Amino acid sequence: MGAQRIDGKLIATKKRQAMKSQIESMKQQGYVPGLAVILVGEDPASISYVKGKIRDCKEVGIYSELIQFDVTVSEKQVLEQIEILNANDKIHGLLVQLPLPDHISEQKVIQAISPEKDVDGFHPINVGRLVTKQEGFVSCTPAGIIEMLKAIDVPISGKHVVIVGRSNIVGKPAALLFLNLDATVTVCHSKTKPLSKYTKQADILVAAAGSEALIHANDIKPGAIVIDVGMNRSASGRLVGDVAFEEVKEKAGYITPVPGGVGPMTRVMLLENTLIAAMRQHEKAGKQ
Ligand code: NAD
Repeated sequence: MGAQRIDGKLIATKKRQAMKSQIESMKQQGYVPGLAVILVGEDPASISYVKGKIRDCKEVGIYSELIQFDVTVSEKQVLEQIEILNANDKIHGLLVQLPLPDHISEQKVIQAISPEKDVDGFHPINVGRLVTKQEGFVSCTPAGIIEMLKAIDVPISGKHVVIVGRSNIVGKPAALLFLNLDATVTVCHSKTKPLSKYTKQADILVAAAGSEALIHANDIKPGAIVIDVGMNRSASGRLVGDVAFEEVKEKAGYITPVPGGVGPMTRVMLLENTLIAAMRQHEKAGKQ
């Protein structure tokens, strides 16, 4: 019997539907959630991600602003723009599309964003809040993975979760989220040898290495839940994950497709973080 496919696209669509009525009720209370996106340069992938984010906002009724800079913009100008948006009360969520050109420090830019508006969850204050299990913002991809598992009622407590990848935006926050939900977590990376020794032990395997067909059927336990975060271009130009889908789906219990799995969940979690930011800021303003 093959694996059940986890339809991230459908789960995300349902979440967006629910958000529309939530946003309506915010509007009745006199405020509209707002997201600002800063884009530097003309990297085609970044342009396409940013366009998607603005389109998603429009679809659910979130106010959005796109601020575009030429690739030659100075770090100072970007930091000044962030200050303006930090002070703008129509904007509750603010992100700078990464990567940035080499002359602009990503860490300086991330740390200039008000932690209360940091809907990407990249600010060290929000990372620290995640580490210490406090309320903050969590990076959208790992948050989307948890949301997806909740949507299909997969228990996480006590499960062995193996994560392949230790980046700041996917692997590490995913490890912390699962740990906070009482999973036993193993984090693998490019120096882990042999990788399959660990992946075979996973009840839940999260593949986030950015390496096509890294995970084969031999690398997993029968019935495992396989979450494929990878987004790679195959030789034929097709979007593929890190998991050899056709063979792994015969052995796994659940599996996410690429595209249509983690990607749409990442997108919808940015909207969710923006709503949460708006609610928190509205509440705080009411108390002042
Ligand atoms: P990254 O390059 O920052 O990190 C990759 C991690 O994988 C590193 O920790 C590295 O040590 C590890 N790794 C690489 N090759 C490995 C191997 N052969 N064996 C074991 N570990 C290995 O990448 P990232 O930003 O975390 O993204 C990972 C992948 O997920 C990429 O394909 C990216 O495009 C994709 N991604 C998808 C979404 C989405 O919404 N679906 C969001 C973010 C990233």
